[in-house]
Amino acid sequence: MKTVSSLLDKEWYDRYKRISTLNIRSSIYDVTNRCNLRCKGCFFFSSGEHQVEEEMDVKKWEDFIDQEKGRGVNLAILIGGEPTLCMDRVEAFYKRLPTYCATNGLIKIDRKQFPDLMVGISLWGGGEDEKILRGRDTFTISSKNYAGDPYTYYLYTITPRQVGKIEPVIQQIVNVGLKVHLQLLSNDESVDGFSWQKSELRDLRHEMDEMLDKYPRTMISSKYYHEVITTGMMMGRRFSWRECPSVTESMDNRKPQPRRLIHFSRWAADLKTMHRCCTSATRDCSTCKDGAAHMSWIMVNKREHMKSTEDLKNWIEVYEMFAKLYRFIPW
Ligand code: SF4
Ligand code: SF4
Repeated sequence: MKTVSSLLDKEWYDRYKRISTLNIRSSIYDVTNRCNLRCKGCFFFSSGEHQVEEEMDVKKWEDFIDQEKGRGVNLAILIGGEPTLCMDRVEAFYKRLPTYCATNGLIKIDRKQFPDLMVGISLWGGGEDEKILRGRDTFTISSKNYAGDPYTYYLYTITPRQVGKIEPVIQQIVNVGLKVHLQLLSNDESVDGFSWQKSELRDLRHEMDEMLDKYPRTMISSKYYHEVITTGMMMGRRFSWRECPSVTESMDNRKPQPRRLIHFSRWAADLKTMHRCCTSATRDCSTCKDGAAHMSWIMVNKREHMKSTEDLKNWIEVYEMFAKLYRFIPW
């Protein structure tokens, strides 16, 4: 069998060593059922995941987070609803665990209170697409709130209408001194004109590659990630329910069990209910374009990538990308 050291030269082996000790154990938390936007295609609302009774007592959140820490979680990914509507809960996580907060960026997080909280701002394209899908152009506000912030990046969800038009959006992000990671819309609410055609995905892959070549200091990405997310294929296997690594552990009764994220759970804001996976509980997995699930799919399948030097380098780049997104290693 090929070994890691036999496949890599010193530089790549050092890169491998840096990530191989990270041992990231993430879980996802719906911080609140409320949001100050109502985006068309928001999986949280379209799948009814907000229909639980939100826990309002911050002490109960603190106890819960301590239990999660005891379960081995070392990365809390906060989503919602909009987490910044409940900063006391965000603080409870931040004081206990490495924490990442997904937000629409309309409310500014106080950097005096949260100096190094990782922030990912959702962005659904240029101003016009944002108005159609989210009711307003959020970039104008979020970019004012976070310009130049060293712990913030845009999580840019590309829609089919954005193909061929990504660069001006990335340029806007460059201009406000932030970074960007790309993912793809899954169109959970079947908005007309926002479902993917094969040719659009092919074009998009090339466009994403071009952007990475042109803006390597702004894009947190890798060409292999572009390939896997646009084709849905990895090492001859198709992404699907059978392969997905991001399923809540206690709800995972798949047989045979695929490689998966260890101890991963996604919790609702009542702190009792668990959701099926990292995204919509009602999504047809064959249409799923979830970026984190595709990234994790690659990451948990290291052995598959030990067939050649090129495959293993691809795997390392994706792992590094994930580690950078959550600041386990510097940008
Ligand atoms: S901002 Fe996020 S949580 Fe709020 S509606 Fe939009 S996608 Fe959903
Ligand atoms: S919807 Fe996506 S992330 Fe969720 S179980 Fe299906 S494939 Fe996995």
